[in-house]
Amino acid sequence: AEKLHIIGGGMAGSEAAWQAAQLGVPVVIHEMRPKVATFAHRTGSLAEMVCSNSFRSDDSEQNAVGLLHWEMRAAGGLIMEMADAHRLPAGGALAVDRDPFAEAVTARLRAHPLISVVDEEVTALPESGHWIVATGPLTGSGLAQSIAAEAGQDSLAFFDAIAPIVHYDSIDMDTAWMQSRYDKGETEEERTAYINCPMTKDQYEAFIDAMLAAEKTEFKPGETAGYFDGCLPIEVMAERGRETLRFGPMKPVGLTNPHNPTEKAYAVVQLRRDNALGTLYNIVGFQTKMKYGAQKSVFAMIPGLQDASFARLGGIHRNTFINSPTLLDDQMRLKSKPHIRFAGQITGVEGYVESAAMGMLAGRLAAAELQGHGLASVPQTTAMGALVTHITGGADAKTFQPMNVNFGLFPPVDAKGGRKRRALRYKMYTDRAKADWHDWLGMRAAAE
Ligand code: FAD
Repeated sequence: AEKLHIIGGGMAGSEAAWQAAQLGVPVVIHEMRPKVATFAHRTGSLAEMVCSNSFRSDDSEQNAVGLLHWEMRAAGGLIMEMADAHRLPAGGALAVDRDPFAEAVTARLRAHPLISVVDEEVTALPESGHWIVATGPLTGSGLAQSIAAEAGQDSLAFFDAIAPIVHYDSIDMDTAWMQSRYDKGETEEERTAYINCPMTKDQYEAFIDAMLAAEKTEFKPGETAGYFDGCLPIEVMAERGRETLRFGPMKPVGLTNPHNPTEKAYAVVQLRRDNALGTLYNIVGFQTKMKYGAQKSVFAMIPGLQDASFARLGGIHRNTFINSPTLLDDQMRLKSKPHIRFAGQITGVEGYVESAAMGMLAGRLAAAELQGHGLASVPQTTAMGALVTHITGGADAKTFQPMNVNFGLFPPVDAKGGRKRRALRYKMYTDRAKADWHDWLGMRAAAE
């Protein structure tokens, strides 16, 4: 039978291999460790967790990543099975005993009669065969260059520069307003593409002080590359001079506040729509290395964002990822070389669980293709479907940055009662997802 080749045996590659092999497809995993090291990995095990030992919330009724756990368990996921087997006490979170976990994943994969593991670095995109690239945030440089040559330099990033992303329904629109600078745009939608949050002089000065005083994270040894064009952290800009932001991303020009038309704002924070659904907005130019706790309190000082709920906080990390919305089709295939799929963090999802999830899907899609039957697309109402829809089309390609799973990626549910009924709304999201995920898994079983 024809083989499926997977480059990288991390979270995504391990799950992809398991899924395809369980469906009867022979798999070869090409993994460069331990021969070639990265600055973050310590061992030669597959599925090594490089930093925290948490799979985050395990609540499948109120939390999107908990829902993703649930979906992966329902689909026979190896990463979830082994995480459950090596679970450590951590309240509502799923913490994992990392070394026994990775050793157990490695042993399971190596023992599978349809899986073999080759210890080698792959240094170029292969020209033929069936492949999944799952080489993660620290993709080897030869392969990265080959991807850039195929996709274009602008479509492969080596660092992320994540501006915080806010749930639209948590923004106070009695304070903020929608308007593009100088009302630019052909359509009404473009003329109102930004949400603007006005600041007085006092508010601006207090905001700068808070940002300068906030705790920051440092780059890890080996990770540094200095700062690169266009993604200076907001606090580094502020350090260069108290007025820098007011003449940069926070300039108050070309805008009129309809709540207070006579008074000119001293500075304006802008948010830009982040997904096609219009449920998420990113704070423009606010990539940051402030610690998460500090971000929450500093950003709450922005008028209009005092009660903001964040789909993700900002960050800047070493992170190799492609511009999936332009490069991949809805089957996770490279449009220009459809014999190659991408999976895991390199597709622009973020986190152990999200990466394993994209591995699960890529493994199943590749197996279905090799066995000559198609696979219906995963409904966007599921956590799996919400993520893959976001990276392969829902996200804005121009500002594409890595994303965690969150309810802002799901088509909204029709819940009455406003924000107080958040628990009810989240339950509606997760109930709908579970039913639709069951149907999708069942459709697959019926097709066989
Ligand atoms: P990985 O798990 O990294 O797997 C990729 C595999 O491909 C690796 O085994 C690598 O050795 C191999 N490989 C790379 N290039 C080649 C090649 N050319 N040929 C053959 N093999 C190759 N996520 C979290 O959820 N929580 C955290 O706390 C966290 N902290 C992080 C800290 C750092 C410093 C970094 C870099 C990342 C962190 N992440 C964290 C992100 C985390 O790495 C991913 O979520 C997850 O590991 C991605 O899974 P993956 O399978 O896509 O990549």
